[in-house]
Parts: sequence; structure tokens; C-alpha cells
Amino acid sequence: MGRDVRAHPGSPVSDVERQARLDLVEDCVHCGFCLASCPTYVLTGEEADSPRGRIHLVGQVLGGTPIAGAPQLHLDRCLSCMACVTACPSGVRYGEIVTDARAQVEREVRRDPRDRLLRTAVFALFPYPGRLRVARSLLAAAERSGLRRLLRRAPIARHMPELLRTLDSLAPAVGPVERLPPLVRAAEPRRTSGARVGLLTGCVQSVLFSGVNAATARVLAAEGFDVVVPGAQGCCGALSGHAGREREAAELARRTIDCFDAADVDTVVVNAAGCGSAMKEYGRLLRDDRTYARRAAELSARTRDLSELLRAAGTRAPRGRLDMTVAYHDACHLAHAQGIREAPRALLAEIPGLELREVAEPDLCCGSAGVYNLLEPGTARQLGARKAAGVLATGAEVLVAANPGCLMQIRAACGGAGSSMTFSHIAEVLDASLRAACGEAAG
Ligand code: SF4
Ligand code: SF4
Repeated sequence: MGRDVRAHPGSPVSDVERQARLDLVEDCVHCGFCLASCPTYVLTGEEADSPRGRIHLVGQVLGGTPIAGAPQLHLDRCLSCMACVTACPSGVRYGEIVTDARAQVEREVRRDPRDRLLRTAVFALFPYPGRLRVARSLLAAAERSGLRRLLRRAPIARHMPELLRTLDSLAPAVGPVERLPPLVRAAEPRRTSGARVGLLTGCVQSVLFSGVNAATARVLAAEGFDVVVPGAQGCCGALSGHAGREREAAELARRTIDCFDAADVDTVVVNAAGCGSAMKEYGRLLRDDRTYARRAAELSARTRDLSELLRAAGTRAPRGRLDMTVAYHDACHLAHAQGIREAPRALLAEIPGLELREVAEPDLCCGSAGVYNLLEPGTARQLGARKAAGVLATGAEVLVAANPGCLMQIRAACGGAGSSMTFSHIAEVLDASLRAACGEAAG
């Protein structure tokens, strides 16, 4: 039964938009099949912290309830992990419901000063590789001088803002930067079709995990792809989009589209699950933009996760032996948002000597979720600890994932540098195997 959508003349949400959003909300038949898959419901047992509860709250907002207060609180607690989308038998498009509701929160709610400051700090840093590089240099200097270790132990550490403590626990040891040339040429024989791919280097990935990008480019080149690495690219907008910062996300999306259209590539390859899922949503994000709508939809259609592309194209470079046990972690934005579960496992299974182990509760989010672990650190820590217990119980030597955020989160939850486990992106494992096949020492 539809609600009267014209009852709120003061609301900035148009009647047409409200009706479209109500249609999405009313797809939910309240069956509750999604509840057990929802990490916040699993932790709290609160209906309002479940997908069904949040959809109900959004329905109330569309019926006139202010979004500030309970709706905002429970929307903020949602990880956007999309486990509920996988679980829902009715095909409810929760991702669209939460994205639109979050954008409304950002438009209409004045957050308290502490929350505003936190969000301003996070979004003034993360989508900007230039600023991240400055932060990385400071981190490297603090590490070299021993200041980072000293500060952690000093009594002052207890009084540092929670954001800094969380960042310190998540940040990996600062390694050397691996720079990529604008073009990494395919190994012969070059593929005959779809051979020119663009590589999204990302914001956090390009600064803190440049080795993952370099490994990705080597793997693609070994598999016969020319890899174009546009220098003008930046953040794809995923972090902003997931937080409801629609305008910022749209601006970053437009820049990314310009950049890859100019690069004239057949496919854009992404090695960070959150970025891939956001880029596959560009068509929806920019659907009302006359200049970009068509180009956005086209870019979404030719965006592929690394493992998705390799699996579809078929691998041919010889794999070298890696005698190791590996636990594979499903990043939510790969498994739930993009439906990619089989491809990374199949690629790992091609490596001789590698033994793959499954992690308990594979569908449950690790608590990373973009910048969720910075904005909601308490919930993120609980989920991190639960995931770490499952990962460590596998007894595997290496945890492999396809998202830098998950690797940072699980590594921190497993005890950081004190853990005997190592943490690798799937591109690094594939690269190590290819290098082992060439007789090099696999790193
Ligand atoms: S996206 Fe994840 S956290 Fe949010 S309601 Fe769905 S299952 Fe729960
Ligand atoms: S979102 Fe889907 S699974 Fe969850 S209550 Fe609604 S219809 Fe049922």
C-alpha cells in the first residue's frame, strides 16, 4: 500500500524521488531472512540495527519522520556491507535505499561538533593521495626516529584522540614506494582482444600499498595485457559515496571517468573491492547528470575486479610453486556487492603447492567498511576481533584478501606486527607465483 508522498512540502526530497525511494522500501516483505547475516544485528540483537529495521526507519522518514535522531543513528551504524542483499530472497535493493538515505542525512542533519570534526578530518585526508603522501612521510619519519613506538607506550597515548589511536593501530609499516610507468607493456604474445586495460591505482592503495598496484600491473602484463596507468587519476569517490557525501563522490567520479576515457582502454581493472563496487555504481550516481550519465554507465560496464577479469579472460602464464597455507577472506564489497567469490579462490587454486583454507562466518564483515572503522571504532573493533578469531583458527600462514581496508583491519585485529600470520593482497600472491615460475625468489 503506497503512502501519501505529497504530505511534506517543506522537505527537500522531491515527490518523484520520494516515490522512487518508497517503491524500493516497499519491496521489503519483512520476512527477516536477512537478520542473521547483518553484522550489527548479530552484535546487538536490536531490530533497529537490522536491515529490516533500517528499511522500516527509512520508510518512516519518507512518511514524514525527521531523519535526525533514531534513523540517523541506525543508518550511521550500518556498514554498507551488503550481506543483507545476498541474503534477501525478495531482491530488495538495500544498497540503493541506504545510499539515498545517507545522502539525505548529510543534506539535512547538523551533526554534533565532535562528529563533525571527526568526519571533516577523515574526509579532508583520505580521498586525497597528495595529502596522504604527506601523512605517509610523517608516519615514516615517526617510525624511523622511534617516535611512533615511544608515543604508543607513553602515558600520553591514552589521551590522544581516538581517531589517531585507531589510525596508528591500522596503519601498516611504511615500506618503499613502487612507482609505475604510464604504460606497462604486455608480455608476448599480447592478447588479441581487450588487451588494453587501465589500472585504478586508488587513493589509500597508491600511497600505502603501492606494491599491490605494482604486483597487479606485473600480473596483468604477464597475462598478455597492456596496462595503462593514467597519472592524472585520484580517488574514485568510493569512501565519500559510502558515507553519503554525494556531491563529493560525484565530483571524484567525473574526474575518474575523464581520466579513463582519455586513456582509451577496453577495461578498467580495480584491485580494491570497495572502489570496484563504487565504480560499478557510477551509472546510478550520475544518472541525472546530462553530460556524464552515458559515460558513467559505460565506465561502470567496463569496470572489472582483477580476479574477475583474469577468470573471465583465462590465465595462461605458468604458475610457480608456493608451498603455503592460505586463508582467503571475502571482502564484502567483492562478495556481496559484486558477487565475486569463485574467481579469487579459483585463481589461488591454480598455484601449485598452495593450500586454501576457509574462514568461519565468511559472509560477516570484518568491520573495515571503507572508513567505518574510523567513524564507528567500537563496533568495528568487535567485528575485527570476531573475524580475527575465525582467521587465526584456520591455522593458515597467510591471509589473502582483495581489499586494502580489510587487510589493515584484520591485521590489526590479529595483533598487528606481533602476529605470526602474514597479510597479502591476492595480486601479490599471484605475482609471487609468476615470479617463482620465472626462477626468481618468491617474495
Ligand atoms: S549493509 Fe550490512 S550492516 Fe547494513 S543493514 Fe545490510 S547487512 Fe546490516
Ligand atoms: S530485506 Fe529482504 S530478507 Fe530482509 S526482511 Fe526485507 S524482504 Fe526479508
